[in-house]
Amino acid sequence: CCCFSFSSSMPSTIRRTKIIFTLGPATESEEMLEKLIRAGADVIRLNMAHAKHDWTRAVIKRVREVSRRVGRDVAIMMDIKGPEIRTGDVAAPIELKAGEIFDFTVRPGGAGEGSEEIRSVNVNYQDLVNDIKVGDIVLVDSGLLRFEVLERNDRHIRCKVLTPGQLTSRRHINLPGVKVNLPSFTDKDRGDALVGLEAGIDFIAMSFVREAADIEQLREFLRWHDSRVQIIAKIEDQSAIANLDEIVRACDVLMVARGDLGIECPYEELPIIQRRAVQTCQALGRPVIIATHMLESMITQPMPTRAEITDVANAVYELADCVMLSGETTVGRYPLESVLMLDKISRRIEADQLQQGETPRPMILTSDKMKVLRSAVVMANELPGSAILTFTRRGFIAQGLAALRPLQAPILAFTPHEETFRQMRLLRAIEPWYMPFASDPDTTIENAINMLRKEGRIQVGARLVVATDLLSQNRLFDSVQLRTVK
Ligand code: PEP
Repeated sequence: CCCFSFSSSMPSTIRRTKIIFTLGPATESEEMLEKLIRAGADVIRLNMAHAKHDWTRAVIKRVREVSRRVGRDVAIMMDIKGPEIRTGDVAAPIELKAGEIFDFTVRPGGAGEGSEEIRSVNVNYQDLVNDIKVGDIVLVDSGLLRFEVLERNDRHIRCKVLTPGQLTSRRHINLPGVKVNLPSFTDKDRGDALVGLEAGIDFIAMSFVREAADIEQLREFLRWHDSRVQIIAKIEDQSAIANLDEIVRACDVLMVARGDLGIECPYEELPIIQRRAVQTCQALGRPVIIATHMLESMITQPMPTRAEITDVANAVYELADCVMLSGETTVGRYPLESVLMLDKISRRIEADQLQQGETPRPMILTSDKMKVLRSAVVMANELPGSAILTFTRRGFIAQGLAALRPLQAPILAFTPHEETFRQMRLLRAIEPWYMPFASDPDTTIENAINMLRKEGRIQVGARLVVATDLLSQNRLFDSVQLRTVK
């Protein structure tokens, strides 16, 4: 079959904000996958921090099979873990008291330096003692435990417990503001990525991106493997914020990974960072994902809190491309309800935006092509009820049009490539359509219009703003034209 469409299984009004959910024990069954895809999930995320390779291959195959059966092909994002500093095993949980002195040991034999009173735990990163300074803060287990560094030598760092609690085995360590000397693309990431490329993922999300060079390293790896997988840069620490512009320029998509960001940065900075990241992406024409804790309480409750509803609404008001679920759909009790909740809130806020006639912030247009695309968006904005029709091989035109944030018009984006079709799932207001292109551009446009009519997506009298850069008489030319469907 050559047609994956929104038509039969989707409600009639199109949701512009896209939904990503993370796959886990609560959602990996065929039945649940089918429900979530039918409910409107656009992208499925695999978190490699918790995934084995056999499981990864099996679930990618399953997602593809279920998508095909449902007639709605979704995209798959592999989220690689990146550098991670962890504590080692402890024989029994350690109860830490406020003010207690505690050692993080990087070399065997260093624990407590022979002192009976000072307890310690091993750490999997030897350069910790070089990267850190006296006075720095060490956070363990998502920031639940807090320490201040008092001294360091080549074997350990000695700390004072600021926030007490229980330390168990293999807990994640965050070092706010510390430039850690670890590679961004680790051996484990490389192994995971190879499995993903072989199984046919569409996106790879790179964790703890600190600068553009990190992304270039992954891009080089993808080039070497002749892959067109797109790179999602997860910003999650202070270096990423300092280098935001170059990261946005270097990546294909940005993810505001609020889980770690909220630990690595002062929490009151988080809304400011989110807003700045979304604005930077919009100025530079990159899609942006808002992630983590969007409906956290729905892990255990069927209804979100009022604050969570407002958080999702804010992301939609900010014109983010995607909202993302993590724990809600990996281990939560209400994964389907969580996706439906995102769907419902997004649609309501989008309707309000339309009613308010909110205009997006102006974008920096660096190319003639983007100026042509803007003229298409301006025309669509002037013609209520119109849709934008476009044709794209690698998705660049679709990304450009989506970035210009048309007010009401959906963007019906045709592509002859299945991978591009799936990658366009992530773009705000884009409806991807799959169709082989004819050698003559006019025939391609006519075929697309016929397909849209046949699928019931448009009727006679519909106004279409057609934006193309199709090859005509051996010349590539950009054009914007208005067509009324006869
Ligand atoms: C985050 O930190 O918000 C995030 C999305 O990353 P992870 O779930 O990999 O910690």
